Amino acid sequence: MVNSNSDLTNRVFAIIYRNWRDALWHSFGVEDLQKKQRMKCSVLTNPFLLIKDYLYRILKEVSRVASEINRDLKDSEPLFLSVLNGSFMFAADLMKNIEIPCEISFVKLASYCGDSSTGKVKELVGLNEDITGRTVVIVEDIVDTGLTMERLIETLKARNPKEIRIATLLVKPDKLQVDLKIDYVAMNIPNDFIVGYGLDYDGKGRNYRDIYTVVSE
Ligand code: 5GP
Repeated sequence: MVNSNSDLTNRVFAIIYRNWRDALWHSFGVEDLQKKQRMKCSVLTNPFLLIKDYLYRILKEVSRVASEINRDLKDSEPLFLSVLNGSFMFAADLMKNIEIPCEISFVKLASYCGDSSTGKVKELVGLNEDITGRTVVIVEDIVDTGLTMERLIETLKARNPKEIRIATLLVKPDKLQVDLKIDYVAMNIPNDFIVGYGLDYDGKGRNYRDIYTVVSE
């Protein structure tokens, strides 16, 4: 009886909280929010437009991805590798929903100029963990052509992990140039340039809670 009462109380609180949060968002109004964000973006040369649905969708999809990982890797004690800078927000929200034993580490892909045949090469920096025999989950912001991911996987494979999985916030399926098995995708998007939720435009916009694309006015 005590339990069912507290269950009921919890459910009532959950409903009140949901309604309050929704009301809060609506009180800004998507239009107002859009204007506010446009003003913030005024340092940029292009006007940016809020992709309205994504306001609610991001967290829902990130939490779905986390549930899939919780289900698939519950006995693997995975090492999550968040690829900075772009994935920091995705990684934070994802990891809040991961409930299995795991570790998280942060790496960077630093560009340096290779010889004339290789052109610009990206080198993995910051990986201090021994990944031999481990399940590694790469946490990326976006897979565009897939070339960066392909190179990263090649580099990691040389360190003999048990398996490598990919979790990415965004994929542009029409741009993919390589044959990649992407295990976890929050959202497939059209072939547009995206800013916000960790992704930048010339160093700016990473802090936006939503994702934006460039529009012509
Ligand atoms: P790829 O090698 O798959 O073509 O590109 C991957 C990297 O390019 C991403 O990690 C990201 O840094 C950058 N990138 C690709 N598409 C976008 C985009 O739409 N917006 C931003 N901000 N960066 C992108």
